[in-house]
Amino acid sequence: MTAIPFDNSYVRLPDRFFARRAPTPVAAPRLIHMNGDLAANLGVDPDWLAGPAGVEMLAGNSVPEGADPIAAAYAGHQFGNFVPKLGDGRAVLLGEVIHRDGQRRDIQLKGAGPTPFSRRGDGRAALGPVLREYLVSEAMAALGIPTTRALAAVATGERVVRETRLPGAVLARVAASHIRVGTFQYFAARGDVEAVRALADHVLARHYPEASSVEHPYRALLDGVVARQADLVAAWLLVGFVHGVMNTDNMSVAGETIDYGPCAFLDAYDPHTTFSSIDAHGRYAYGQQPGIALWNLTRLAETLLPLLAEDEEAAVEAAEAALARFGPGFEAAYHGGLARKLGLPAYRDGDAALTDDLLAQMAANRADFTLTFRRLCDAAERPQADAGVRDLFVDPTKYDAWAVRWRERLANEGRNPAATATAMRAVNPAFIPRNHHVEAMIAAAVERSDFGPFEELLAVLSRPYDDQPAHARYAEVPESGGADYRTFCGT
Ligand code: AMP
Ligand code: MG
Repeated sequence: MTAIPFDNSYVRLPDRFFARRAPTPVAAPRLIHMNGDLAANLGVDPDWLAGPAGVEMLAGNSVPEGADPIAAAYAGHQFGNFVPKLGDGRAVLLGEVIHRDGQRRDIQLKGAGPTPFSRRGDGRAALGPVLREYLVSEAMAALGIPTTRALAAVATGERVVRETRLPGAVLARVAASHIRVGTFQYFAARGDVEAVRALADHVLARHYPEASSVEHPYRALLDGVVARQADLVAAWLLVGFVHGVMNTDNMSVAGETIDYGPCAFLDAYDPHTTFSSIDAHGRYAYGQQPGIALWNLTRLAETLLPLLAEDEEAAVEAAEAALARFGPGFEAAYHGGLARKLGLPAYRDGDAALTDDLLAQMAANRADFTLTFRRLCDAAERPQADAGVRDLFVDPTKYDAWAVRWRERLANEGRNPAATATAMRAVNPAFIPRNHHVEAMIAAAVERSDFGPFEELLAVLSRPYDDQPAHARYAEVPESGGADYRTFCGT
């Protein structure tokens, strides 16, 4: 019996789509954590995966039967500048498996050594960024947001050189695919329309099968990517997530959150928030994310123009029509989500003032995003619980004035308060990966080889919508307020 039931499709695309390259072995692999549920769903025996042969495979020291390891070619706009050749510089795609849900998944090793796309990089990953991606991607999955998943993290027993020498690690990442907007750009930039078509056909079959059989499949493909991206960015905003590096090479055409580098969650609500040390101009700030998603989708549409219609004018018209659906799609998802966060089953005419005024007051009063909405759940049930929300506002009377209008609106719905609160608790997380806890978790692992905080935080974040009184400290805001928090690209 083979250990992993590979069924590879990307390697059947033309040779210029990738470079065949096995992972580079490491000195002393040691399993840090393995995602047993995900392994089982992928048809992999968790006990095997956590055993010696599995860990060798996860570290890149052995290539399992049926794998066909490659580094994929892609390009990308990085902070607005086009780079025609990026590609998997430190990741190796082992192959694909069919998940229990019937959908295909990639299994990729990130930090698996140099590839022909490594440029000056070492092909490796440091332990800190691997743990950050593991934890945050699994937290996003538990929040119900489309995302790549973490299958396992392995320490390499080697050091990587960054500003200092740091312990190295490999992350086994699972994704619907690793095809990015930048993958399309790679071929379009070379005038290779046949490759763009082959890639589009692959993406249609793999991610948008319902679009394959309509009159204009490539237009339907663009529509599909636009729709999923609109929903995804709305979902990010609704939990306070800042991706941090929304380059076109970090945007999946499958609609999953991918590439957790400098990402972080808001503490106090402020749409201008950036965490990334390299995002000096706030290009990827929290509130910029819908606009940037549309900018990236416009780059995707450009690559598809030759496929959208015979003549250029008609193609541009089709692209513009598809892109024009982003705004309404995003607004519907975002406003519908905000309404549910406030206990309203639907967003009605006039609700914009209610939601916008709350957010404006939260911003003006430095109210913590996650705590405000979570405590509103209690306030919906018992007006005495207003005290907990008021505490979060610099000027609590600003909340009082708003709460009067909110209660009137809730009363119109006629739902009983307990039911409203229950519905609200299912969409307003108690627990998100708080930046100061993520940093403390990383410091414990890197400086003291103590993985206890990682294990505990991972367990807490697997149930984000449940009150977990024993773990209440993970819901608390940092003493500093968090405004000075900085993240660094995970290289
Ligand atoms: P990222 O900023 O992680 O999205 O990566 C951008 C590009 O840099 C991708 O082509 C990566 O494969 C490449 N890259 C990042 N870190 C490394 C590294 N340590 N070694 C080689 N390539 C890297
Ligand atoms: Mg990337």
